Amino acid sequence: MPERTKVAILGSTGSVGAQALDLIARFPDRFEVTALAAGSRLDLLVEQAKRFRPSLVTLAREDLHSSLQTACAPLGVDTACGEEGLLRVATHPEAERVLSAIVGAAGLKPTLAALQARKTVALANKETLVMAGELMLRETERNNALLLPVDSEHSALHQCLRGERREEVSRLILTASGGPFRQSSLEEMEAAGPEQALRHPTWEMGPKISVDSSTLMNKGLEIIEAHWLFGIESARIQVLLHPQSLVHSLVEMRDGSVICQLGTPDMRGPIQYALTFPDRWESPFARLDLSTAPALEFSAPDLRRFPCLGLAIGALEAGGTAPVALNAANEVAVGAFLARRAKFFDIPRTIEKVLEEHHPVAADSLATILDADEASRRRAEQILMKGVAA
Ligand code: NAD
Ligand code: MG
Repeated sequence: MPERTKVAILGSTGSVGAQALDLIARFPDRFEVTALAAGSRLDLLVEQAKRFRPSLVTLAREDLHSSLQTACAPLGVDTACGEEGLLRVATHPEAERVLSAIVGAAGLKPTLAALQARKTVALANKETLVMAGELMLRETERNNALLLPVDSEHSALHQCLRGERREEVSRLILTASGGPFRQSSLEEMEAAGPEQALRHPTWEMGPKISVDSSTLMNKGLEIIEAHWLFGIESARIQVLLHPQSLVHSLVEMRDGSVICQLGTPDMRGPIQYALTFPDRWESPFARLDLSTAPALEFSAPDLRRFPCLGLAIGALEAGGTAPVALNAANEVAVGAFLARRAKFFDIPRTIEKVLEEHHPVAADSLATILDADEASRRRAEQILMKGVAA
């Protein structure tokens, strides 16, 4: 029997993490789970430990560690907690591929550690690339590691670009479903709460990325992600609304030819691609049938109703730590919106204020990035506390 691919998952209890385990369970002879890390969902992590028998499981919440230990000891599964646990999963000696699927800045240190440990990193956690693109590329190269996108758009671009010469690419075109407010008025959006923002039309995702999809910040973060992954400047990255979510992204070549990738809107496709690249395995999931699919529509996004998109492009163009400030302010404002401490448009207003006051410096060290992250979070909290209009 050929060797099984050994996988560690950061964020195993989340939407991406659970879908990855669903995929892995369908290939018991070809995948093996070596280590799992989660935030606070003890019961689900224990269930995953029973089912997949990894060597190590870890929770961010240190106060839950003794319960985790008690549940995992009879299984012969080692446990850990806190940041040390995350780093142990990210650098687990048995793991060949590490799926980075923690949400937000909390994923940065373990993702960097996985690259430094020469792993192939399947990256869902786009926030880390937004914060530390330069550093992550440097560490990937220096350690001869490999960084593969899980985000469906970037997986599509990666597939479209296979075998193409970079200097022959003229534009990257990212598609966006448009989220739940694609056709809403400014007034409806101003009044929207978490229940409206979380109602995503085509994808089932964690709460933070669902809100990001409703503001189109998700697409803004994805422009920055594409910039680092494919080495293309922001002026040559375009966004198109495509509500059917079947064309996952497109590449325009300099001769005018446009190449795109299509598939069902199922994250298990891009997860499988990143866990098996450069191979392609038979898919266990439903295939796209274009003869019964809805008509494909495309249109330009409205920057007035979705100011987050412009803010993200501005931060990428400002460079240095500006995307760190953008991401930090967004995480804080989205958290406040989900907790009903902020209104929908307080999200872009907070980010705009934080960016206005931020003086970008080169984002070439982890310490600089974490300092900018911390300071921007503090500033965003203050702005929200005082009332954004103040
Ligand atoms: P989620 O909220 O469903 O899951 C997040 C996971 O991270 C959970 O397992 C949680 O326990 C863990 N976590 C959170 N904070 C942690 C901490 N401090 N330490 C350790 N673990 C922690 O989120 P999701 O929707 O799965 O998204 C994960 C990432 O993937 C995000 O960066 C998102 O942008 C990206 N992504 C998600 C999708 C999707 O379909 N869900 C698609 C593309 C990209
Ligand atoms: Mg995406």
